[in-house]
Amino acid sequence: MIKGEDKAMNIVSNIAIERSKGSKLPFVDFNNIQFGKQFSDHMFTADYKNGEWTNLKISPYEPITLSPACAAIHYGQSVFEGMKAYKNEEGEIFLFRPEENAKRINISAERMCMPTVPQELFMDALKQLIKIDADWVPAVKGCSLYIRPFIFASEELLGVRPADEYKFMIFTSPVGGYYNDEIHVKIETEFTRASEGGVGYAKAAGNYAASLYPAKLGEAQGFRQLIWTDAKEHKYIEESGTMNIMFHIGDTLLTPFTDLKTTLAGITRDSVLTLARDLGIKVETRKVSVEEVITAMRNGELKDAFGTGTAATLAQISSITYNDERFELPPLDTRTLSNEIGQIIQDIKRGKVEDTHNWIYKI
Ligand SMILES: *Cc1c(COP(=O)(O)O)cnc(C)c1O
Repeated sequence: MIKGEDKAMNIVSNIAIERSKGSKLPFVDFNNIQFGKQFSDHMFTADYKNGEWTNLKISPYEPITLSPACAAIHYGQSVFEGMKAYKNEEGEIFLFRPEENAKRINISAERMCMPTVPQELFMDALKQLIKIDADWVPAVKGCSLYIRPFIFASEELLGVRPADEYKFMIFTSPVGGYYNDEIHVKIETEFTRASEGGVGYAKAAGNYAASLYPAKLGEAQGFRQLIWTDAKEHKYIEESGTMNIMFHIGDTLLTPFTDLKTTLAGITRDSVLTLARDLGIKVETRKVSVEEVITAMRNGELKDAFGTGTAATLAQISSITYNDERFELPPLDTRTLSNEIGQIIQDIKRGKVEDTHNWIYKI
């Protein structure tokens, strides 16, 4: 049985539903979707007050009202998730490992001193919202419905302390296929994304704010993304932009470990590592030094480097620049490991191969 099927009808949360009066769907050109600019008809909202989540509702997508002293705006208590709903050829809608997002938003929330959301509430809200906006899940190949769950401090509060009031919301946005142009990256040696003891492992809004300036400087130099290095010495590789990063060196798939909590534990990362192990590929998760990657590039041993994340699944890197020296990576069609694993993930999502790890969650 496909996971989710047995639970789909078993909605336990008491969610009030107010349907939109008219759908915006007829005005959307699914063959021409701009990322994050179009939103489906409904959104989910819950308010955290007096220590519990109340006012659970699905209502038309619209602006919300907040106090100018809203704590999230001033002190940044705000965390989010990113996931996707897909439609297969039979028109069935499913998610990929959504329980992992439910767990992770709570890991993020705890670090930012915010209330957690019960997994049941997260899953119920998600299922109901996607069912109501089922027609918004594109049937076009490569397209999907991007889902944005988030929690933020909504209390009117200027004192610095953890807020007492929060909102947990979910809205969705149809997205097109990932545009696969060449990705040239630079190893960043000045700015950092995360430090030990910090919040790098949380999907916190502030992590993104802090990365924009270095990313902008990198972009002006022609780099699509930055490879982040450790805050102490800039000697160890952590992530690539807002994706995890992997290297295929010799016969080994190598990726930075998450033990130091400076790297976000991506669900795509975990899926790729699991599939690589299934294929009998040697996998190493540990500290990855800049030096060993540079040496592998000089020796021609670096077969592949790619980012992993929900947005693109796998994003193969075309060149890596370090201290003004640019290394070109092998042509994309020779990247057997990432091409194969990317294909397996697509096939699992389309139901073309057996979902041996129970990753597909039917709505
Ligand atoms: C979301 C995110 C990722 C990727 O996580 P997935 O669960 O694979 O989408 C990687 N790094 C950072 C910093 C992120 O915010």
